[in-house]
Amino acid sequence: MIHEIAPHSYDPEYRKRKPLDEDTALIYSGKAGILTICKEGTFCLPAIKDISNLFIEELPEKEIPDITSEAYFLFMIDDTGYYQLELPECINKEVSFVKTTDENPVKTDLYKGKYIYMSIHRFRELNPVPMVFAGATGFHIRNWRGNVRFCGCCGAITKPSDTERAFVCTKCGYTAYPQVAPAVIVAVTNKDKILLVRNLRRPQNVRLELVSGYVEVGESFEHAVHREVLEEVGLHIKNIRFYKDQPWGISGAHMIGYTAEVDGDDNIIRQEDEISEAKWYSRDEIPEYRNRLSVGSEMILKFREGKL
Ligand SMILES: [Zn+2]
Repeated sequence: MIHEIAPHSYDPEYRKRKPLDEDTALIYSGKAGILTICKEGTFCLPAIKDISNLFIEELPEKEIPDITSEAYFLFMIDDTGYYQLELPECINKEVSFVKTTDENPVKTDLYKGKYIYMSIHRFRELNPVPMVFAGATGFHIRNWRGNVRFCGCCGAITKPSDTERAFVCTKCGYTAYPQVAPAVIVAVTNKDKILLVRNLRRPQNVRLELVSGYVEVGESFEHAVHREVLEEVGLHIKNIRFYKDQPWGISGAHMIGYTAEVDGDDNIIRQEDEISEAKWYSRDEIPEYRNRLSVGSEMILKFREGKL
């Protein structure tokens, strides 16, 4: 799964640390995605020095800005620091970055030596896993930073805290911390079958998924599991068991995976404004299914292999 990066270790502790040349730069651009560089037949995250060199090569006549002064420390993986950088308008305008869309195939031979803004959904298909984890986790922090530039209480400008991962209001002192939204995902089985659905709201609603949904305020995770299954497919469930949890920075969520069995009537009543299709699938009927490093994919694949 996306956060299973052993033998590497993730250290989220906030620290005041200057970026080094070999540290990693995470650069996101609106809907265009995350900046990667195509090196040695594969897509990588650029190092800080790659970005410095980009300025030297692309803007030789202009004053080279100090990109490290505005770098925001994100986290460490082993001894490498990860920093979020914003590229100045001048470079975003003048450098011909390639932009991929979800439809474009990502071919390394086409993009050799180039910088590519890749959609976050395309990025998550890449390897190695620690790189994908870093990109997704940085994306979560970057989106949060974008939402706390101004104080939610009084509207004044905020500034980063010197001591912790937080933004502090310059006028009233309100402190905004990163937010993680818990969501449950559940593999409901019915003897030798599993319930798979297609969600109308997902951008790629062609995929079969497990029932999932955000935990409401005041609710326990298990209560949310019961409620989501009843709402989306009209089923009662029993024998709910915790499976595994997973940070999911792409949507700012934290997925909590459960297994459960249908209780009583197995007739599905679909929530039409949310679910376009819902059906019981036997192991043999589950279509070709790639592991997308998610707890949901893992549970479906394990069921197909007879291990769930
Ligand atoms: Zn304020």
